[in-house]
Amino acid sequence: LFRSVKGVEMMFDYEKGKDLVVNATKPLGESYYSVVARAFDEGWVDMYPSKGKRSGAYSNGSAYDVHPYVLMNYNDDFDGVTTLAHEFGHAMHSYLSNKNQAFANADYSIFVAEVASTVNERLLAKLILEETTEKNARLSLLMDILDGFRTTLFRQTQFAEFELKIHEAVENGQPLTADVLNAMYKDILYRYYGHNEGICNIEDLYAVEWAYIPHFYYNFYVYQYATSFTASVALGQDILNGTPGATDKYLKFLSSGSSKYPIDLLKETGVDMTSEVPFVKAMEAMNYYMDEVEKLLGK
Ligand SMILES: [Zn+2]
Repeated sequence: LFRSVKGVEMMFDYEKGKDLVVNATKPLGESYYSVVARAFDEGWVDMYPSKGKRSGAYSNGSAYDVHPYVLMNYNDDFDGVTTLAHEFGHAMHSYLSNKNQAFANADYSIFVAEVASTVNERLLAKLILEETTEKNARLSLLMDILDGFRTTLFRQTQFAEFELKIHEAVENGQPLTADVLNAMYKDILYRYYGHNEGICNIEDLYAVEWAYIPHFYYNFYVYQYATSFTASVALGQDILNGTPGATDKYLKFLSSGSSKYPIDLLKETGVDMTSEVPFVKAMEAMNYYMDEVEKLLGK
């Protein structure tokens, strides 16, 4: 399942990564990208891995009166620059909400948080694709983008379906043993990956995958990756297509913290998550990338 294009290694050093993130966010206007540019000079980002530093990446916007801080472990590759764009989505969301909201409303919910980060990923993908002309490099990028659809939209929905099933089982008085969970998980995997249709072969061992996913021990978290991703594709398209008012509405959304319910905040940006429209737009975007791959492969 894991794609690779042989011989392609796209590298983006610190300067290139920084330029890409600043340039990718230019469609959001100067009030956004100029802050991103100055954040690098003002020490918001701890960029590189170092001895004793924790792994991963995150943005912390809780220093209300100061500015957000971004932790990175930048590796000069496509994943690194995507993560940088992602974390700056969170950082700018905090920056704008902290600036425009009273302390009590400045913090935002997860439902909207991952929208701000993944909109930046969409903007970055558009820019890098425009700059990349060599066939195999384009293929590699397109496969990375499509992998984002697979892992965020489909895989997280698969996780959410499993999560709902385990909660329903408990509600119905059914005990949850490892065997029960394995059977439930395997059934879902078979359906999502087309095991019975001969599309993918799911080995028995994969049925225990649930055990290592920490989110199943929280309460209904994972579906928000899929909803955020869907909303961000719809929003990203409106911004990149220059839909009148789209950028202003989006900046207002980023400045709103938790002053309204998440679903209402998104509605005001023109994305109604209670309708099928954002999902249809996300599928259109996915089909566009798949068409590009097929064009490159001459199919
Ligand atoms: Zn995030």
